[in-house]
Amino acid sequence: MSQIIDGKAVSAKVREGLKGKAAELTAKGVKPGLAVVLAGDDPASAVYVRNKEKAANELGFYSKMIKLPSDVSEEELLNIVRELNNDDAIHGILVQLPLPKGLDEKKVIAEISPEKDVDAFHVQNVGKIMLGEYDFLPCTPAGVMELLKEYGIQTRGKNAVAIGRSNIVGKPMAMLLMHADATVTICHSKTENLADITRRADILIAAIGKAKFITGDMVKEGAVVIDVGMNRDENNKLCGDVDFDSVSEKASFITPVPGGVGPMTIAMLMKNTVKSAENKLLKRG
Ligand code: NAP
Repeated sequence: MSQIIDGKAVSAKVREGLKGKAAELTAKGVKPGLAVVLAGDDPASAVYVRNKEKAANELGFYSKMIKLPSDVSEEELLNIVRELNNDDAIHGILVQLPLPKGLDEKKVIAEISPEKDVDAFHVQNVGKIMLGEYDFLPCTPAGVMELLKEYGIQTRGKNAVAIGRSNIVGKPMAMLLMHADATVTICHSKTENLADITRRADILIAAIGKAKFITGDMVKEGAVVIDVGMNRDENNKLCGDVDFDSVSEKASFITPVPGGVGPMTIAMLMKNTVKSAENKLLKRG
């Protein structure tokens, strides 16, 4: 049986540390400020945004929530981002994706000041991730790295396999693992003989978006299995990309869904916001 990686507990520990930092920054006149922009009425996005706002409030941040109708024009949204870029009380700007149809996500992200881009989606920050010289780490992959560190899981020299090559999870995940000296393979929907590759993984990261896709027969005995997926199963119950029951028979460590990677993503967003506020203080001198 595997050891279950408790993302809730690690996230609580990270957030406790950030609470102290936020209080110190506030005492020095820079209260960390996070703005969350939600356009449209996607129910999943509404939940994510509410959780982010709640976390920011719990840490003593200044938080600003901007809700826009789904027919908001691109220019209106871009103007809001520009205002937030110029707002001294805001250190982190997050525009919740996906945006309603007709709005160009690339254009909106490009408008966010890289210094306040706490999701690390701006092309400038993406480039820095490639170089390993980051201000902000992409939240979900950074959360995974924090979990590995917390559980003493070595990455150096290990075979790490990431399934998924999205810009927000798969690609930056592979970069962070490579910077941590793992030998990385990235798989995707066109990969042939996927199970042959996953069975060679010492560390397997599933970021596919398909309920219970990774089954026990695809996993090496003793592998570390990290499940990024967030899906609904046939009973509308939240589940990951990994079939927990069969995989936990073989893995040495495994993340559950919920309670694994999800809580870490929010903690890392808060960490980036604190980092941005610290940068501001350093600049002020
Ligand atoms: P995405 O943009 O849809 O990317 C999915 C990736 O999986 C793609 O690269 C796709 O390959 C690959 N894929 C699809 N079917 C496959 C198959 N049969 N075999 C191998 N690879 C396959 O999704 P995402 O944004 O990266 O998110 C992935 C999952 O993580 C989702 O469930 C999402 O909800 C979840 N998520 C969770 C968090 C969190 O905080 N826990 C954060 C972000 C995302 P192609 O590139 O070839 O299409």
